[in-house]
Amino acid sequence: MSRIVLVSNRVGDVSKAALAGGVVIAIADVLRARSGLWLGWSGKTGEKAEETRTTPDFQEMDGATIATLPLSHREYKDYYLGYSNAVLWPVFHTRLDLAQFEAGYYQRYVDVNRRFAETLLPLLKPDDTIWVHDYHMIPLGLELRKLGVNNPMGFFLHIPVPPAQLFMAIPEYRDLARSLSGYDLIGLQTRADCANMLDFFKNAVFGRILQDGRMRVFDREISVKSFPVGIDMDSFLESRPRRSREQPTPATRLIGVDRLDYTKGLPQKFRAFGRFLEKYPDYRRKVILSQIAPPTRESVVAYADIRNELESLSGMINGRLGELDWVPIHYIHRSTPRRMLVDVYQHSRIGFVTPLRDGMNLVAKEYVAAQDPDDPGVLVLSRFAGAAEQMKQALIVNPYDVEEMADTIKIALEMGLQERKDRHRALVSGIRSYDTFWWCRSFLAELDAVASGKTLPPFGAAGDEAAKKATIELAGLPSRLSSN
Ligand code: UDP
Repeated sequence: MSRIVLVSNRVGDVSKAALAGGVVIAIADVLRARSGLWLGWSGKTGEKAEETRTTPDFQEMDGATIATLPLSHREYKDYYLGYSNAVLWPVFHTRLDLAQFEAGYYQRYVDVNRRFAETLLPLLKPDDTIWVHDYHMIPLGLELRKLGVNNPMGFFLHIPVPPAQLFMAIPEYRDLARSLSGYDLIGLQTRADCANMLDFFKNAVFGRILQDGRMRVFDREISVKSFPVGIDMDSFLESRPRRSREQPTPATRLIGVDRLDYTKGLPQKFRAFGRFLEKYPDYRRKVILSQIAPPTRESVVAYADIRNELESLSGMINGRLGELDWVPIHYIHRSTPRRMLVDVYQHSRIGFVTPLRDGMNLVAKEYVAAQDPDDPGVLVLSRFAGAAEQMKQALIVNPYDVEEMADTIKIALEMGLQERKDRHRALVSGIRSYDTFWWCRSFLAELDAVASGKTLPPFGAAGDEAAKKATIELAGLPSRLSSN
């Protein structure tokens, strides 16, 4: 079996994969089994020439090789905070209003990807399978192709794909489409994301769907498929500490666990809970909302704004509705170790997961996994979380509709035992069938299939010319434009 080579912005700790959860568990497994290599940013920044080198630091970990590179301060500012997190992240989460299209961001984004490609080139073997992860690394595949790399190459996007018209608001959308076309397989979280991606290729760069379902774009044929990310239920449950400090609360609890990100719909969630208490006053003093919201990307302006908004909103609701012996919203702006969450979820009657937009949302799956099958709680889930495509037995809500969410809290609290058990059983069955190992295996199997028996055209200067010509021909434009 060929060696697997992973590239992502950050590398995970393979030796502590079970604690990290999510995709790292499956990735660690496959890295061990295929003596893999994983390249990413070390998390360090500096100003010296050192910081822009192409010789990584190596670490052997559990049979896998981890290679890391530092970033310069400028790269960190323009590639990471700038293009990745102040352009791609907001636009892909349909928050065009928050995007900062600043000069220099895109160039540095491509430069960092080129540096990663140049770093990887001497480390590659002819039969390696390359798997690139997430929005920070979109141009990496094409940069490798330009260097003559012909290996099978897959890309998995962990965040959602926006509708084509929004995607095309990014000034460099054509370049991004060109970059994406360097891969053999593009994996996405949901079928809705696949529809958006195909639509984007059609509208942005005249992509055509072929008879076998693949997309012809520029001079390449690529597969676009959904592989929803899952969890490993058993290792999650086993991670819980033997002696839990978590005590059942006297009040019935709703639990929210979300990074403090504007995509997570936290203000709407707080407003819905406040509205529920106003509309159904019998529940006052009986119910609380605990919201764990660890800080994230605080150097991006939009994140400071959401923090201020949330702090004032929780203060307002608690001030208006709270009593001396009852505080309705417990807002915790700190991270909680994942293994501690098992008991927190289990002692919560409702998992309140209401992002405005989310690629998947693993908290929804973890909440269900942690429930007692004989007396399970109820998952209230936003229809705009990728997880909603699979988790149809949750109570699905529109996170923009505060009134509907308030009413759904009441329905969840009053749901009978049998219905809770039935819904829980169906949800657990989905979580077990499509776990994190399924995600990893099925992506790699698909990549093997699409890449087998093919000689992939390298993208050199000639490839670029051919791509430009194909676009122009498809657009019906005069060929003289091809020299522009
Ligand atoms: N998480 C955690 N501690 C916290 C908050 C979250 O360990 O204080 C974990 C959570 O258990 C889940 C992950 O972080 O595994 C969040 O994944 P999700 O897909 O829900 O959201 P993301 O943060 O990736 O947008």
